[in-house]
This record gives sequence, C-alpha cells and structure tokens, in this order.
Amino acid sequence: MNNLELIKKAKQIALSGKLLDRESIISLLKIDPASEDCEFLGRTAREAASIICKDRAYIWATIGLDHKSCSMNCDFCSFGEKWGIVKDESEISGNEIIKLAHKYVNEGARWIFLRTTQFYSLEKLSKSAEKIRNTVPGEYELGVNIGEFDEEMAKKLAKAGVTYVYHSLRLREGENTRFSAKDRLSTLESVKNSPLKLAFFVEPIGCEHSNEEIADIFLTAMKYDSVATGAMARVPVPGTPLGNLPALSSKRLAQITAVTRLAAGYNAPDICLHPASEIALKWGANVVAVETGALPRDTYSNSEGEWRGFDTNTAKIWFNSSGYKVFSKVG
Ligand code: SF4
Repeated sequence: MNNLELIKKAKQIALSGKLLDRESIISLLKIDPASEDCEFLGRTAREAASIICKDRAYIWATIGLDHKSCSMNCDFCSFGEKWGIVKDESEISGNEIIKLAHKYVNEGARWIFLRTTQFYSLEKLSKSAEKIRNTVPGEYELGVNIGEFDEEMAKKLAKAGVTYVYHSLRLREGENTRFSAKDRLSTLESVKNSPLKLAFFVEPIGCEHSNEEIADIFLTAMKYDSVATGAMARVPVPGTPLGNLPALSSKRLAQITAVTRLAAGYNAPDICLHPASEIALKWGANVVAVETGALPRDTYSNSEGEWRGFDTNTAKIWFNSSGYKVFSKVG
C-alpha cells in the first residue's frame, strides 16, 4: 500500500470508530514531514477533525502552582533539583489561583488545569479544587496534573470537583526519568477505576525518539481510555541533561499530531498539541494549551502572563483562521 492509500484507509478506520493498528501508525509516522504526502496526511487529519469534533475547538488553560525543586530529576524538566535551575522557590497563593481561574473561564477556556511538581500536597490541591468550584461559576472542566496517586485519592479529587486528570507514561520512562513504568501505570489504573476522565498525550517528544516508541506510547494512552490525546514536544531547557538535544520541527510535531488524530478517531475526539502551531491546527488538532505560573519547560515562573506570550486571544485567532470555532464546553 502506498502512502496515499494508507492515509485514506486510516481516515476510514478513524471514522468507523476503530483504533488504527500499530504497524499503520508507524508507517504514517515514517512519512517525510516535508513531503507532499505529509501535506495530504495533514489535510486528511483536518477533514477527520471536521467530522469527529465538528470543527469545535477548545482552550486548555494550565496554572503551574509551585516553582520548586523536585527530587525526581527528570532529564527534561527545569524543576529537577540536581540541575540547580530553580533558585528562588515560590508558590501561587490561594487567592491568585482563584483570580487566574476566573480569568481563564471568562476568556472562554474549557479546561482549567492545576499543575504541580511531584510531591505537592494532594490534600492542599484537593482543597484548592473545591474552592475553585465553589467560587468560580461556569461549566468549565477542572483538571489536575500532579504526582502519583491511588484510587482513593482519585475518588477524593472527583468529590472535590475535579473532572479531568492529565497523566502519562512518558517516552523513555525510567531512562530519562527516575520513575518505574509500573508506578506511572498504577496511577493511570487509579484514574481508569474512578469517575475522572484521562488526558494523556505522547510526550515529551524529541528528535531522539523512534516512530515505534511514539506509536507504543500513543497506544498506551488508548489502553487507559484517554479521551484527549495528541503530541507534546520536549522543549530543550538549557542546564537540563537533554537541554542540548534539538527540539522537533513544527512540521514533524504537526505530523505526529495528525497521526494521533487519525489513529484515535472517535476514541479521543480532542487532539491537543503543545507548544501550539498554526500548521498543527490545519492538520487536525482542535485543542491548544495556554500556560501560566511555574513551567517545567522554562527557567522562570510568571503568573502575570502566558508562556511565550501564547494567550487565549492568539489561540482564538489561530483557530478561526484554521476553520474552527472556539467553544467553552463540549457540544
Ligand atoms: S517532570 Fe515532574 S517528577 Fe519530573 S522533575 Fe519535573 S516535576 Fe519532578
């Protein structure tokens, strides 16, 4: 089967509700991102997005709560205590969290995510979630991106008003991180056995990862019933062990995003890429993230603005020019 036949077949499978098989995913990832075939792949993924998510786009707002050193020392993360990047530790106050949640709900974000380093108190986080729910009106989804937790904590978070969890088995988990895959999978199992919905992207993707590795992590996301997936790049942070390895080109990241769109089909109707690019929206992504506060992919914490200036307004302009309409809730 040639590339064009394979892409058409992948779209058919996506629209039939099935998952694409591993070999086809790898073949799509093998296409040269600069080729005409890849342009066709991107256009086809965008057509699939029109049908699967009905051209509805969404903004995911993340508030990084704590700018702190983390003893897990992941090789790509600026918080790793061994890298010595975090000099002045800080944490966003409860009032500031509420203010930021209000701001992003008013600006039309569908998700408000609270992100922390690995050992942030889950009791404290759960109280913050409850306070947001009791103070910030709206039909937004409240999500958390935190360390490991068990089923009991998952249920507690759901009770506090959390509806989504971002969690993943990262690429080269245990090699570029100090975690055992077993521990990460156990948290994914806890989410699966709770009322919480899972968002799990293929991440953090760099030029060092093979097509096979990318396909396997994507299929792990599907195995744990992730309803939102996509691709997140490794951003080279100077001073971290992977800081000298170059980032992926935006075309390659857009290609991977397009492949996740076709491979997931209706199983994960929301496809995100991070960092955002206009080309990936034109190639089938319908979710982008805006970030504020502490950042694992940069060397500073700033809750006065968004990372790299990518705000909800820019997201809306990019979505509109890619044929989407932005909504603050699922339709
Ligand atoms: S990615 Fe998470 S666990 Fe790893 S060093 Fe950063 S905060 Fe810690």
